[in-house]
Amino acid sequence: MKIAILGAGAMGSLFGARLAEAGQAVTLLDIDDAHLGAIRSHGLRLQTAAPDRWVTNLAVSRPEQAGAQPDLIIVFTKSMHTRAALTSLRHAIGPGTYLLTLQNGLGNVEKLREFVPLERILAGVTTWPADLVGPGHVRSHGEGAIRMMSADGTVRPIVGQVVDALANAGLRCIADPDVWAAIWEKVAFNAALNTLCAVLGCTVDQLDLTPDGRRLALSIALEVVSVARARGIDANPASVEASVIHAIENHRGHQPSMLQDILAGRRTEIESIGGAVVAEARAAGVAVPDTACLLHLVRLAEARAVTGA
Ligand code: NAD
Repeated sequence: MKIAILGAGAMGSLFGARLAEAGQAVTLLDIDDAHLGAIRSHGLRLQTAAPDRWVTNLAVSRPEQAGAQPDLIIVFTKSMHTRAALTSLRHAIGPGTYLLTLQNGLGNVEKLREFVPLERILAGVTTWPADLVGPGHVRSHGEGAIRMMSADGTVRPIVGQVVDALANAGLRCIADPDVWAAIWEKVAFNAALNTLCAVLGCTVDQLDLTPDGRRLALSIALEVVSVARARGIDANPASVEASVIHAIENHRGHQPSMLQDILAGRRTEIESIGGAVVAEARAAGVAVPDTACLLHLVRLAEARAVTGA
């Protein structure tokens, strides 16, 4: 397959490199010229559990300069940059081009729908971890998986082709008819841990310094699950609760991405996580007081960070 990765930061670089190593024709599209330049000069340095290596069979380009129409575009910008990124790539989206989003949060499919019909959108969730160490250098420690499906739930040949491409690249991927439950469960996890750590400036394990941290994290996670269930999505409260507790007890020293963004003075994904949950809760008539409170606090923290106030 001819695959373009739109947004080749931590996750886009990891996925692009693994797919290219497996023999797919991959182009990384990004607006970070230092990152693109480093890959153009030396290839992408990939650090995983396997020995470090340089992946050199990656094409790179800014989106507005992208050429041939890809079979698949994997969108891996942060959610607040999806629209701008796809707008600059609109010329390269052909009538046979499919779009896949594995981004965190809610509302990603709706953004992609502004560019292609629903039947050409695939959506899912991934637990693979990745960090961009510097220009041309990505690190991924730990194992993960991908669950995905066509956005309208119809099992088309493209679903199997993309699952096979990702699985053959070692990225453990399954087609999952219950993908929306998985997406909401990850939103619940992120709404709890990302927002609390972003506001408090603490690592995930530090939420356990008093019983209040764990209690608040679980309250937010379960509020989000209750919204999902009110919307007819079968998110599992017990498994969300277990993954929040597991993270608090085991993710020592981990700064969630929302905290990293605040510390770097960047915008966060709060609107597609807390913001989207509160909007869905309102529509479903479900009360989410803790999630709403954290949404307002993160917005404030983000405004301070971005303006340098
Ligand atoms: P990142 O910030 O490392 O990468 C995003 C990339 O998008 C950057 O390189 C940025 O330059 C690029 N970009 C921004 N605007 C652009 C534009 N207009 N055109 C093209 N490129 C543009 O983010 P990430 O950590 O790779 O996360 C990407 C998505 O995956 C997010 O939704 C995140 O929540 C999700 N996710 C991340 C992880 C992780 O471990 N990093 C795990 C699972 C899911």
